[in-house]
Amino acid sequence: MDERSSLDLIEFWNYRAIGWDILPLPARLAPEMVDYCEMFLKQAYQAFPPPSNAFHSGSFLCAKSQSRDEMQAFAVKLKRPNDHPLTLDDRVPRIWEEWGRSEDHAEPQTVEHATKSINAHVLGNGLHISGELHEFASQERFSAQTIACANVIESVSDETPIIPRQKNVAASLTHDFGDGDKTWISREGIVIFAGQFGGDAHIRLPNGFNIFTAVAESVGRKLVLSSAGKTCEQVIAALGGVDRLAVVARSEHVLKLMDNLAREGVEIEEGDEEEQPRKRLFKSYALIGKVLEAVKRANPGPLESWQGNLNALVRFNVLKIGMALRCAKCGNMSWFSLKSIRDKMRCPRCMARFKFPANSPPDKESWAYKVVGPFAVGNFAQGSYCVASSLHFLKKNICRKSTWLPSFEMVAPDKTKFEADFVTGDN
Ligand SMILES: [Zn+2]
Repeated sequence: MDERSSLDLIEFWNYRAIGWDILPLPARLAPEMVDYCEMFLKQAYQAFPPPSNAFHSGSFLCAKSQSRDEMQAFAVKLKRPNDHPLTLDDRVPRIWEEWGRSEDHAEPQTVEHATKSINAHVLGNGLHISGELHEFASQERFSAQTIACANVIESVSDETPIIPRQKNVAASLTHDFGDGDKTWISREGIVIFAGQFGGDAHIRLPNGFNIFTAVAESVGRKLVLSSAGKTCEQVIAALGGVDRLAVVARSEHVLKLMDNLAREGVEIEEGDEEEQPRKRLFKSYALIGKVLEAVKRANPGPLESWQGNLNALVRFNVLKIGMALRCAKCGNMSWFSLKSIRDKMRCPRCMARFKFPANSPPDKESWAYKVVGPFAVGNFAQGSYCVASSLHFLKKNICRKSTWLPSFEMVAPDKTKFEADFVTGDN
């Protein structure tokens, strides 16, 4: 390195700060520092215990201002602790690049001191958070009164949002509530200031919708969630996250069953046009036998696996248990929830009241399931299972952390718009 170059010095400090065992070697003084270099190589050399023949050894890293050839000419003349060649590196680690840091093993070291709980609450679409002073700042009467230290919001409700760090995205996400110059986005999260007087922040809740709305606003567009997008959000929320999608999307058998149940009362014409088309009425419920068949086909493994899947479908309110009973007045079969089963019931078809068939109570085969909530939306919950499965795949296999948003439209000021099935951002 050139000891007079501020960039070389700053980079050297950064390598030390990330925890590397590194020593400076000023190029101009190098010829006088041969002993120092040889001692460094000797101390860094460490053979792994046998039977391994590998070893740990010192290497040379060329500062950006210096010539690799000159460094090599100097280094090859040094006495080495073994016969293996020296490692020379002229490519400095990319501390300044998010992905480069991990590629080049230059992740920063985080020093932690204490953890504190603070007050935070969600107000509609906003997040109100009280800043917390570090103890050195709270005890120091000369510290700045409003901006004494930085607080970083790393995650909200256990989810770490991925927020694009462009300046105007941060501006849109955090500036709306008037604290414009006091919040910004860093690698660690959303940064707010805290001081003895002042430190409360009001920002938009950093969820997928608000983050991508901020991205849209930063390029002068408006983001609107489509009705399919809202259904997909509800499906994912009902399951408690995309990680649990396998409860419904484990196989086509369960998905097809659910979709048939979601087409309540729809008549579909079958057969070719010349013959008399047959009409098929989809029932809004499935008898227990049919549900068990679909769930067992989706889980061909041991007994526990299909039972676990059925339990999950009931627990997450995808399927609701009830009973299929025939109306004594009109003769139609209808589904009745557990709550509605009583001595006298009202038939949803003919609206007449009929008595529970107490003289010939229904057998086990008459128990029936219905799909409820967002799962009762037709066309595979408006494509939600496909979108949510894609998000799950990306989260599991490609992005470690991500922020996502299902089906939406972006509208430009001149009213031109584009539509996307989903968007996901990763770090
Ligand atoms: Zn009836």
